[in-house]
Parts: sequence; C-alpha cells; structure tokens
Amino acid sequence: MAKKQEKEITVEDKLKTLYSLQQKLSEIDSIKILRGELPLEVADLEDEIIGLDTRIKKHEAELKESETTVSQQKQKAKDSALKIEKYKEQLDNVRNNREFDHLSKEIEFETLEIELSEKRTREFGQESKNLAEQIEKSKAFLEERKLDLAQKKDELEGIVSETKQQEEELREEVKNVETQVEPRLLHAFKRIRKSARNGLAVVCIERGACGGCFNKIPPQKQMDIKLGKKIIVCEYCGRIMIDPELIAPAD
Ligand SMILES: [Zn+2]
Repeated sequence: MAKKQEKEITVEDKLKTLYSLQQKLSEIDSIKILRGELPLEVADLEDEIIGLDTRIKKHEAELKESETTVSQQKQKAKDSALKIEKYKEQLDNVRNNREFDHLSKEIEFETLEIELSEKRTREFGQESKNLAEQIEKSKAFLEERKLDLAQKKDELEGIVSETKQQEEELREEVKNVETQVEPRLLHAFKRIRKSARNGLAVVCIERGACGGCFNKIPPQKQMDIKLGKKIIVCEYCGRIMIDPELIAPAD
C-alpha cells in the first residue's frame, strides 16, 4: 500500500467516498419508504376536503336562492288571491257587460297566475329538498374525511418525529460528503442514482456480476474493478461498480 504522502485524491478514495455517500442516501431513502404513501395520502385528503367544502358552499348558496324563490312565489299567489277576491266583490256591482268581461278576464288571468306560482313553488320546493339532502350527505362525508385526515396526519407525524433527527443528521452528513466529491463526478453520481430504480448508483460486484442488475461482467473488467484505478460503470445499467474488498472494514 502506498503511503499517503501526496495530497492527490486517488480513484480508490473517490470510490470510497461515493460509496459512503450512497450509503447515507440509501438510509434516507429507507426513512422515506417507512413514511410510504402517507405524505401523499395526507395531501390527497386535504385536497378532497377543500373540494367538498367548496361544493357544500355552492349548494348552500343555491339552496338559499331556491328558498327565496319559493317564498316569492307563495307571496305572488297570495297577492293574486287577494286581487281575485277584490274583483269578485266588484262583480257584484257591475254596471255593464264590458265591465263584467273585463273583471272576468282579470279573474281568469290571476287564477292562471296562482296555478303558475303553485307549480313553481312545488318545483323549487323539491329542488330545495334535494339540495338540503345533498348538503347533508356532503357534510357527513366531509366529517368522515376530516377524521381520516386527522388519523393519517397523526400517523405521519409519529413516524416523522421518530425519524426526523436521524434524517436531519444524515442530510448534514450527505452535504459534508458531497463537498468531498468533484462536481462533475457528483453530477454523474446523482444522474445514475436518479435513473436507478432502487436509488443505488454505486454497487459492489458479486460473484462476477453487477450488484445492481446482476449481469455478468467480462473478466478483464472485473480485473480493472479490482485494481480500482479508474471508475467503471456497468454497461447494462450504468451503475458505478466497486470491489467489495475496497469497502471492507480495514484491519
Ligand atoms: Zn448493472
């Protein structure tokens, strides 16, 4: 083993640094896996609750309008009934046929008006009933969703608080290690990690195969990896491959 007289960073050092960076990031990944779908579920529930709230408010405004229409139509019918009463009184004192015809037409007209108002009162009464039912259903559903949300939030907060400190420490360490990697290599590492399904950008070779995709590595390449003189990526999955001896605890 060469003594570290010169400050030059060897490829071996780089690989070791990348591997330790990979390990810390994987630990953060496993914390995220522990939280699982919960953050998403909480966000979805919050959206759903906002949507339900909006729908209820809209229906409540419609209900108010519908109820106003009902009372207006009831008033109209009452007014028409009063007019009819008045016309009927006048009918008792008509002086000629013209007056009689005129009053009869007015009575007929107001009678039709009453029928129309009653029809509208029924229609809007039914609509008010439907709306009130919908509002009630939506409100019950909203309460359920709110309970679900509170429960999921509790669950998530529990997990987060358990792992928060650990995650913060790891993120701090990651930042630290990242400064030890040259920007170009760090960029490549991040790119590989992003495209790798399990988030592993650096893998050990295992029995002559890539530890990421398990494809066989040609013997010459295996030798090169063992020597650790250059950074070698798997030709199949693009992951950086290292020899397990490199990261074995030194004794
Ligand atoms: Zn591979």
